[in-house]
Amino acid sequence: MELLYDEDFVETAVSLCAAGHCNGATSLQIHRFHFERERIYSILDPDGRSAEFSRLHMRWFRDWGLEKRLAGTIGEFPQLETSLSVLAFRKSRTRLEEGAELYVNSASRRNGVVALRAERFGDDDRLAEWLRRELMHLADMVAPEFGYSPDLPREGPSPVRERYRLLWNISIEGRLERRFGSGQKSFFQDQFDRVFAFWPEARRREVFESLWNDESPRHERLMQMALDPRETAHAEQPIPGAPCPLCGFSTFDWAHFPKVHPRAVKAILAQFPQWTLRQGACRRCVDVYEAAASLPLTVLPGA
Ligand SMILES: [Zn+2]
Repeated sequence: MELLYDEDFVETAVSLCAAGHCNGATSLQIHRFHFERERIYSILDPDGRSAEFSRLHMRWFRDWGLEKRLAGTIGEFPQLETSLSVLAFRKSRTRLEEGAELYVNSASRRNGVVALRAERFGDDDRLAEWLRRELMHLADMVAPEFGYSPDLPREGPSPVRERYRLLWNISIEGRLERRFGSGQKSFFQDQFDRVFAFWPEARRREVFESLWNDESPRHERLMQMALDPRETAHAEQPIPGAPCPLCGFSTFDWAHFPKVHPRAVKAILAQFPQWTLRQGACRRCVDVYEAAASLPLTVLPGA
């Protein structure tokens, strides 16, 4: 695996050290860095000058131990070394843009790209903690037993994608907790309780613990739970008093689907892709989806 760094990323990280914001940069070194940098301005050829700047930044990136900090954490995931062709780091401007992604090209070469804000170099412990979380995502994606497939719904805000992401994150936090003592259990437990509020508490505890303690999670299981958390795929046909597959409450008031607006059906399917008309839904749920169909898809009955 080859480690690559975007020039912009290296320059920003080095500038942070040169401004005295990271560990291990002595004032003498900072003075030398600025001295060397000033000298480069005397090179008249613009290409030659920018090549010299790149060399200077890369050298200080190594001398100030920034590369070593990344490499130390990368070394905790030896499976990446053998599965990836390239692991590249690029600069991210915002927290939202940060994260790791996997790219597979037509020759099946797998490349990982990690986007991060250079400010993270200001705190070694938190940098390592953050990077472990991202690299564990990558490690799962390349692990044959995880069986990753990028078959998530791609368009629009997707509750399925959000549920999937949460379930995966829980399994990652559990493993981080056991390996490094840094999982945020109560934070994730709260999120899980909110997103899966329609499950009885005992079920929530059981599923959360099984995810948290799973040493080798599988994409397919996470996906199944994300796609069909109410297990509508196994639901009975509407019979009086049976539970509605959407809200889980038993109902005697099933909706009459030929009269339901197609937009409401679409809205239900956006939340529960495996639901079918045949399974029906209670009148109360359908009312909510009919009302929500004209709004962004944020209203969830029972949530
Ligand atoms: Zn219902």
